[in-house]
Amino acid sequence: MSQTEIQPFSVLIVAGGNGTRFGAETPKQYQLLNGISVLEQSIKVFFSFKTLHKLRLVCDPSHLDFVSDTLLKYHLPPPSPSGKNRKESVFNGLRSFSDISSEEIILIHDAARPLISKEDIERGVLAASTSGAATLAVPVADTLTRSGGEPVDRSDLWSIQTPQAFRYGLICEAHDKFRDQDGFTDDASLVRALGHPVTLVPGNRRNFKITTPDDLEMAREIMRQIMQTNTETRTGLGFDVHAFDPGRPGPLRLGGVDIPYHCTLAGHSDADVGLHAVTDALLGTIAAGDIGLHFPPSDPQWKGADSTIFLKRAVELLHEKNAVITLIDLTFMCEEPKIGPHREAMQKVISKITGITTDRISIKATTTEKLGFTGRKEGIAAQALATIQLPVQA
Ligand code: MG
Repeated sequence: MSQTEIQPFSVLIVAGGNGTRFGAETPKQYQLLNGISVLEQSIKVFFSFKTLHKLRLVCDPSHLDFVSDTLLKYHLPPPSPSGKNRKESVFNGLRSFSDISSEEIILIHDAARPLISKEDIERGVLAASTSGAATLAVPVADTLTRSGGEPVDRSDLWSIQTPQAFRYGLICEAHDKFRDQDGFTDDASLVRALGHPVTLVPGNRRNFKITTPDDLEMAREIMRQIMQTNTETRTGLGFDVHAFDPGRPGPLRLGGVDIPYHCTLAGHSDADVGLHAVTDALLGTIAAGDIGLHFPPSDPQWKGADSTIFLKRAVELLHEKNAVITLIDLTFMCEEPKIGPHREAMQKVISKITGITTDRISIKATTTEKLGFTGRKEGIAAQALATIQLPVQA
């Protein structure tokens, strides 16, 4: 991946469509693609730029339920309402950026183009920072004909894609000037009508727009290939021990679940030996140190802390690297209490925090045949293994 540090830029994602051509109850931009919505796939890549300034959305106000999770996850402001057509939607979205300078580059991107690459975005921004206006485009490859059979010379024909990139002042001027005129299907044509040239930046056919269910299937197939070829499998191990604290009455916190027992475990936090092992296993997959490094026991703020906080942090660190957790396997070593009756509840807690399904969360327990400190009921040990898929930087 290129390491070019491009100038700061902002992004407007247009998710206004109702998908009449898609023909499903859930509009295309909210269908799932590799476990997240098409919209989120389209947004995600922009957040891999350190120079992303602001990113905002336009969507149909009746679709807010579809976007609320994405807004929370990426800390996005409420979307602008879509208009009666794409031009009006973009106009509404542009107005929400009144707090950026007229020289700043703004990218306008369709929510239904989830396979946009980082390299294409970089080239769009660079071209617009020189010329003021640029759009990604690919040469037309198919032979073209009119319905009457007359051939069309395709040698100078391009299919226009998004993102399209503009100086903010220029694109606002174009939208203001042609506010009441119809017939513009994209933003580049508005800028051209203003008499300002638009640089064509050769893009990638993979950045197609999902319009039909067939397109969605094709996008899913491409994503599967990307995941297979561009990820590596990683495994991490976690191990932890806590002693019983006979002076402190239970319940006992294990695997995020309160278990009736005559005493608790001793520890600086809630002493959840199970979640500590899982957290360390996850941190291990990305060589991110251990729980003590992120939450020093010397820091009073973690006294009595709920260990779900530690697990949440490890999951956040994995998400920052676009890792996908595929398995968590946790084993408790103790004579008491019985783990079996609480297995499902622990799976649910861990599933909620990690976002993976319970069939990928294994909870096991063993005694140590009355040998050692666990055998003498002096404490509990836990061991965890985690497996992830991590994108490989090409
Ligand atoms: Mg511990």
